[in-house]
Amino acid sequence: MAEVAPDGFLDALRAIVGPERVLAEAGDIASFLTDWRGRFTGRARAVVLPGDSAQVAAVVRACRDARVPIVPQGGRTGLVLGSVPDASGEAIVLSLRRLNRIRSIDAANRTMTAEAGCILADIQAAASEAGMLFPLSLAAEGSCTIGGNLSTNAGGTAVLRYGNTRELCLGLEVVTADGEVWDGLRGLRKDNTGYALRELFIGAEGTLGVITAAVLKLYPAPQAALTALVALDSPRHALDLLGLLQARCGASLTGFELMSAFCLQLVATHFPDLPRPFSGPHPQYALVELSSNESGEHAQTLLEAAVGAALEVGVARDAVVATSNQQALGLWRLREHIPLAQAAAGKNIKHDISLPVSTIPDFILQADAALQAAFPGCQPVTFGHLGDGNLHYNVAPADGEAHDAFLAHQGAINRIVHDAVAAFNGSISAEHGIGMLKREELARYKSPVELDMMRAIKAALDPLGIMNPGKIL
Ligand code: FAD
Repeated sequence: MAEVAPDGFLDALRAIVGPERVLAEAGDIASFLTDWRGRFTGRARAVVLPGDSAQVAAVVRACRDARVPIVPQGGRTGLVLGSVPDASGEAIVLSLRRLNRIRSIDAANRTMTAEAGCILADIQAAASEAGMLFPLSLAAEGSCTIGGNLSTNAGGTAVLRYGNTRELCLGLEVVTADGEVWDGLRGLRKDNTGYALRELFIGAEGTLGVITAAVLKLYPAPQAALTALVALDSPRHALDLLGLLQARCGASLTGFELMSAFCLQLVATHFPDLPRPFSGPHPQYALVELSSNESGEHAQTLLEAAVGAALEVGVARDAVVATSNQQALGLWRLREHIPLAQAAAGKNIKHDISLPVSTIPDFILQADAALQAAFPGCQPVTFGHLGDGNLHYNVAPADGEAHDAFLAHQGAINRIVHDAVAAFNGSISAEHGIGMLKREELARYKSPVELDMMRAIKAALDPLGIMNPGKIL
């Protein structure tokens, strides 16, 4: 074993978690310092891997005493530079990976208590083994952790039916910035005993404390889920289809994703082996998922009747309903491969915005027009969770334009898109959070009153400013 240079602070951490759980060599910590998209690499004093909440608390106390910043880290799949340290090299990365136990499942209460480092897919599998459903679902589910999901209030593809991560959580265990363990692991659906502290830590991106465990809501597992891809003329028709499906299918509608023709063209170019459900292109597509707690026949009857009605009244141009799980997976893979196809095509400028659902068609028209006026030929890559009013409104360069040169316009393009979002009373971050990436944008678009309240909360819960400094605020 290599000789370890003496460092009082790191020695204190080694005494808490064990010497092999404090990584300080450049080669050992490199993979913890770069964000998922590879856009930024920070520096850190060390990476610390505690094994339980008591160790997390002791590490936080050591950092508090030494005034060392802490960057909590889960699966590092966050998209806004929240889980990587800045370039100063002063912080430690606190990896929650080893807190990966499912502590209990209370079937009658329909809850699971899981530690923050549990991988989302493992939580889904444990719920399924218990005959229930944990509905949070996103393309990073094989790597992201429930602590990261809670800290970013992640959304995903089932928000329409089940809500985002905030709505799937009943209780939290948190290590405060002072190194105390707050046991708020209550499995209660009603609890009006003062300020909703749990809500502060959800979506706080590690800036107020460290989430170490959570009580999660479970649901009855649906008997069947059915997927359809519907071809449409325009986003306006997508909105009409959403209304029609909501009216006819109610809570059975679990997913409604919009994808523009350009998105599927990108996927077809870069992943030619994926299915091509229609013989020719259509301007827009909606990927629709319906689930039924009754039976497969029930889901099929409901979906086919609703899609049939949409075709009949001219809301839809064409539709395919998956007849097997395999086909349904194929349709979902089209949606999930859009970001991968974009990455394969080169760099682009991403936006994760939300709007009142009713305004989405007008927003797309206005933002597309404003972008074309300023950057002729640029290509909006418009897709996302239309049912939740959440668009990933990304912008790629014109055909033949150099990607790096295009990226130099990021500030101007953000301004056009985010000004349009503000004009429609929307939000510049729907589900990815703020991190370091959107900090300046947040300062621009939040009101001074709102920013002041946020700063007051931060100062009250983290007076020394050691929790993930430089993120959000
Ligand atoms: P990390 O990236 O490690 O951390 C995210 C933030 O949370 C950081 O600020 C970090 O400091 C903080 N944090 C992490 N753990 C803790 C903790 N225990 N206590 C306190 N703070 C903590 N997001 C969506 O919402 N919907 C999607 O559909 C979606 N799809 C994605 C698809 C892909 C392919 C990828 C790569 C990402 C996607 N994301 C999506 C973004 C990302 O997966 C989510 O933000 C996820 O919730 C992050 O979890 P993580 O464990 O990787 O967190």
